[in-house]
Amino acid sequence: MQLVFATNNLNKLKEVQVLMPKHIKLLSLKDIGCFEDVPETQNTIEGNAIQKATYIKQQYGYDCFADDTGLEVNALNGAPGVYSARYAGEQRNANDNTNKLLSELNTIKDRKGQFKTVIALQLNNESTTFMGICKGEITLTKQGNKGFGYDPIFKPEGEKVTFAEMDLRVKNSIGHRGKAVSKLVTFLNSLNKIP
Ligand code: IMP
Repeated sequence: MQLVFATNNLNKLKEVQVLMPKHIKLLSLKDIGCFEDVPETQNTIEGNAIQKATYIKQQYGYDCFADDTGLEVNALNGAPGVYSARYAGEQRNANDNTNKLLSELNTIKDRKGQFKTVIALQLNNESTTFMGICKGEITLTKQGNKGFGYDPIFKPEGEKVTFAEMDLRVKNSIGHRGKAVSKLVTFLNSLNKIP
């Protein structure tokens, strides 16, 4: 059984595929011949997830799901939030983004924040969303080289290491995307009729 995950981010694909029931094989955008930039022009994380999933359904005809994630830092009033990918500019570079965040927090004591993922599912002409949140704090320096994006500077609440120092299984079990995906999987299973 196949379901499109509207992403070309291989890290995300890998994270999510291991959480799916064995009989669901995820297809990426590349797999369905989509090589364009899928629009994400909304000003909320939820809005962007819905926009991406709706676009793929309308343009390519596939039932699918899309995710959007943002890192919300308390002391920065929720920034970078929905603008996490482009925080340091349109080049969307993870290293530049993490450097900018570290420098914004340079003199700030309260380093608490959270990752928020919203997954939007387009299935049988209905849209459903699932949210996952992981609270934690921004470290003083980069630590670890696993994962992607802001992982080297995010230490989840109650943990001693950053996401970038954890095995994928551990990140998935406590992380924002893992939580949202597990709600999605519960929903798909409850339909008793997986696409
Ligand atoms: P998007 O959901 O792909 O639009 O991601 C928005 C931004 O958050 C990008 O800069 C990603 O690299 C970053 N990001 C998304 N998910 C994660 C994660 O699980 N860990 C660290 N950074 C992430």
